[in-house]
Amino acid sequence: MVASLLGCAQQENAPTTDAAPSSPPSTPSEANTIPPIEWPLHGLDYKEQRFASPTQINSKNVSELGLAWSFDMDTFRGVEATPIMVDGMLYVTGGWSVVYALDAKTGTLRWKHDPKVHRSFLAKACCDVVNRGVAYHKGSGDAPDKIFVGAIDGRLIALHAETGEVIWEAQTTDQTKPYTITGAPKVAGNNVVIGNGGAELGVRGYVTAYNIGTGEQAWRFYTVPGNPADGFENEVMERAAKTWTGEWWKWGGGGTVWDSMTYDPDLDLLYIGVGNGSPWNQELRSPDGGDNLFLASIVALRPNTGEYVWHYQTTPGETWDFTATQHIMLADLAIDGVERKVLMQAPKNGFFYVIDRETGELISAKAYTVVNWASEIDLATGRPVEAPNARLFDGKTVVVPSNGGGHNWPPMSYNADTGLVYIPTMVFPAAFKSPTNEEDRTPGGGFWNTGFDRMGASPPELPPEQVNQILDESFRGQLVAWDPVKQEARWTGKAGRPAMGGTLTTKGGLVFQGSDDGHLHAYDAASGAELWSQDTQTGVMAAPITYAIEGEQYVAVAVGFGGGFAAEGGVVAHGWKIPNIPRVLVYKLGASLTLPAVTDVVMPMPKPAPVSASDEVVSRGRVVYQRHCGVCHGDGLRTGGLNPDLRYATPSIHGIWKDIVVDGILANNGMVSFKDFVTVEDAEAIRQYVLAEAGRIYKLENPTSEDIQP
Ligand code: CA
Repeated sequence: MVASLLGCAQQENAPTTDAAPSSPPSTPSEANTIPPIEWPLHGLDYKEQRFASPTQINSKNVSELGLAWSFDMDTFRGVEATPIMVDGMLYVTGGWSVVYALDAKTGTLRWKHDPKVHRSFLAKACCDVVNRGVAYHKGSGDAPDKIFVGAIDGRLIALHAETGEVIWEAQTTDQTKPYTITGAPKVAGNNVVIGNGGAELGVRGYVTAYNIGTGEQAWRFYTVPGNPADGFENEVMERAAKTWTGEWWKWGGGGTVWDSMTYDPDLDLLYIGVGNGSPWNQELRSPDGGDNLFLASIVALRPNTGEYVWHYQTTPGETWDFTATQHIMLADLAIDGVERKVLMQAPKNGFFYVIDRETGELISAKAYTVVNWASEIDLATGRPVEAPNARLFDGKTVVVPSNGGGHNWPPMSYNADTGLVYIPTMVFPAAFKSPTNEEDRTPGGGFWNTGFDRMGASPPELPPEQVNQILDESFRGQLVAWDPVKQEARWTGKAGRPAMGGTLTTKGGLVFQGSDDGHLHAYDAASGAELWSQDTQTGVMAAPITYAIEGEQYVAVAVGFGGGFAAEGGVVAHGWKIPNIPRVLVYKLGASLTLPAVTDVVMPMPKPAPVSASDEVVSRGRVVYQRHCGVCHGDGLRTGGLNPDLRYATPSIHGIWKDIVVDGILANNGMVSFKDFVTVEDAEAIRQYVLAEAGRIYKLENPTSEDIQP
């Protein structure tokens, strides 16, 4: 293959021989001349634009795109990975941090690496045991090419790219704390850098760099200060601590770098996207306010030393889970007639930022979706102008975007030909409520401990069809084509369901995006018109990629539903049962493979046993359920289908309820013991609440049944 890592970067900077999208090649002879093209980095190249050069598949012929091959993963959790493609191999990750190396032309499995993480990590992962992909490094001399993966249990693993054999492993986290890794590692300079997650459960964020060859730790950069009594790691942390109040370190502080890191080899800067506070609620975390650096910031570091260079904070005093961990892409844009080296981000808070990537200076920021927590970003100060009631946590005041964000981890893409950034956006509201109960006001007091009362998140107690109607009206996902120079939308896609997939754009004038209703779509990059779609049988969250081998262009996407979209309440409070079939689907022109048919298994609600406790006990059960269980099993017992719907629990499960919840007999399946949080009495109260809800639904489905009295 011609395009090595370096070759690809050069290729991107030089004009390519590909036709412009206005005159895509249409004859087979031209089409057959396309050179091999790889996808060697998470975001294609150093700029992370996900703007691919092949034009064999283009806006004129995309209707002829069909399935060339598919590969079934043997993991059954959510799929969020962007594959990479080098040397004819496609490297992709599934749930539980399993790496698959596939022949990129045929889909044949070459090797698989299962890091065999303990299943109890399911309970430590805020948003499912997902993985967003690997990093690749081309070896020089005797050193082999390597594939790096971050395992959910905090290990960074270097694998031999040809064989999958482990070259080195480093434990990057303290396993007694609820750290996890879901993001792709980043090769930068001499090092491979990895972040972590866990701010919903109470940790202190950092990134660590390891020597590519040896796996030896090179440096670690903490994103928030620790306990001042322990001394600060560096002068930057000492300064950051002046922006915090109270005893934040007891909560962890947060600031995990759980997804985006971007490396600019020309400026020798590594940009890291820093997450939310731990806990979310600043009232508890830093009671006298303060900006709480470097939460919700982009921080520029020197990749060989970890030295701080600059930062820009998107959300000072973060309190709504407004992470700045979203995709950071680089571009050189003409702004007011001057070519600027910029980085661009659409973080959760709803504003699209264009920032000078040499200095960190804010160039412009405008709302890319519905935003009510701030009216604008003041360009003079670089700070948001907050709405007066944005921090009113009364459980009624609606904040948009929600903690899910106006845009979350699904990657955006930037097409230099159209000048547009394709952002998978979400609109759904949140109403935060400061807790009055001691557990939620205490560090470590709840399993998922955000410092907010989770009862406030529960949808109204209405019949499911009415809940669906309310949610359908206020929840939506929409593809937004954003002009980053003018800071305005050029076009917006049809409103659909909120959990939208990441995007890919090509010089063939196309944007590819999957959707949670089980389709992969191709849109005209200039107009947004839908040109093609195909049934994927399963929800799609991850971003597609494209590459070319032996004269043929392929589009590949890892499909499968799960992750935070499926586990957290809200998005799937609709009661949608989105099927999860983890697979890699690969398309090319003229192919017509069909997937094996799936039969919809509609499971009727089994007749539940009657409630045998008082209304008070059932109410208590609901409170404890919402606090400790709802985050995985679904807000108000409405699950996204990934974790068991407890309303369907069989009599035998009811018979061992306490053994599961308190004694942890299913810990090896991921359902750990909750004995530190839930008493035997409360476990029974939860069970009675589940029976009451199951009875209510059963009654709705079987209106003539008389023998159920919930
Ligand atoms: Ca978060």
